[in-house]
Amino acid sequence: MCRVEQIGGVADGGRDLIIHGRGGKIVVECKYWRNKSIGRPIVQKLHSAVVSERATKGMVITTGRYTAKAEECVRQLPGGVSIKLRDLNWLADQAQAAGIRLVTGSGDSVIHDLPATDMAGLRAMLSGILAPVKSHPASAAELLETTLASLRLEAYYVVTANVDQDFTTGAGRIRSVHEHGIRGVYSARDGSRTDRARASFLLEGARLGGPPRIPAVPCPVYKEDFALGGPSLKRIVAERLIRKYSSTVRYTGRNRVSYRKDCRIGPRSVHITDIRQVRMPKYVMRLGFLKKRYRCSLVQNGDGARITDSDLYECGVCGRHAGEACLLCNSCGAMAHAPRLFGSHSHRCGDCKKTICGNCAFWVRRLLLFKRMLCGRCADRRPGARRAR
Ligand SMILES: [Zn+2]
Ligand SMILES: [Zn+2]
Ligand SMILES: [Zn+2]
Repeated sequence: MCRVEQIGGVADGGRDLIIHGRGGKIVVECKYWRNKSIGRPIVQKLHSAVVSERATKGMVITTGRYTAKAEECVRQLPGGVSIKLRDLNWLADQAQAAGIRLVTGSGDSVIHDLPATDMAGLRAMLSGILAPVKSHPASAAELLETTLASLRLEAYYVVTANVDQDFTTGAGRIRSVHEHGIRGVYSARDGSRTDRARASFLLEGARLGGPPRIPAVPCPVYKEDFALGGPSLKRIVAERLIRKYSSTVRYTGRNRVSYRKDCRIGPRSVHITDIRQVRMPKYVMRLGFLKKRYRCSLVQNGDGARITDSDLYECGVCGRHAGEACLLCNSCGAMAHAPRLFGSHSHRCGDCKKTICGNCAFWVRRLLLFKRMLCGRCADRRPGARRAR
């Protein structure tokens, strides 16, 4: 547990709170500034306070914003001291988790936490995902063993923006960019852009959420913070949209000479209209079928779940992706490409109908030309049966 020492007042020497936690002391400075941005001097003052308290960590919390200079100053602090800048996005999240309603000038700040599920819910989702897999006599869901390694509540910013700019020359308007409602999903940890599939999955099912309800799961749960500050996020979004919508245009002047003009979008032409904070659960698991083990990550969006990173559908015979409608070997637990007319990587046992991969198949001659594929157990009863591979 930690103890909080409140200092406050006007002559607080750049510190309002000192948190005595397990990881050492944290010196905290709070600023309720609505119209002024926090710059380098506040960071420098806190840095001195951290040093004189013989601490190593400091934190500035504000309802306002930080200047780019303040962020730069934090990055260039001499070694041994780390200072974190926390703004309204972070504060709103902490307040919501503590059950405090935070009302700002622009309305309620709400974090949209997509609901996470417990082991029973997770198994139900996996059964749904595995439904197309051919498997006999046991279904894939019946053979499935699930070990949950971690549950990560990943934090994202969903940003909506407009870009408006006209480019004119002596020959008139040569290019207009008026794109509205451009949405992008960015990691709230470092601003990295989320891949298209995951972003659209998040947007599809995103529902209004309450505080995160962390389900009872037998693994560590990591809740990501909205650590990336407003100015950094805005800079990253603007840079991306400038890259995306800038282009070089060829046009013909009044003198019939053709020209090229670099139509670069200016930072002032990018307007961010909405920033929404969403957290999406990601489950990191080990899955098992009989003797085989697979790694698997799953994200959940309130409507359903999607596998993001897994070797689950890798064919045990050729090593390539076998697709969702593959076959599960009921002898060894390998996934394999579904049976084909020629050169199959999997079979159904001709005697008992068990689904088997090519590595677990045997055959006996039937008539003159045809082979009958068999599982190991049925092959034992047939003299002359041979291994397929
Ligand atoms: Zn294959
Ligand atoms: Zn097999
Ligand atoms: Zn059989």
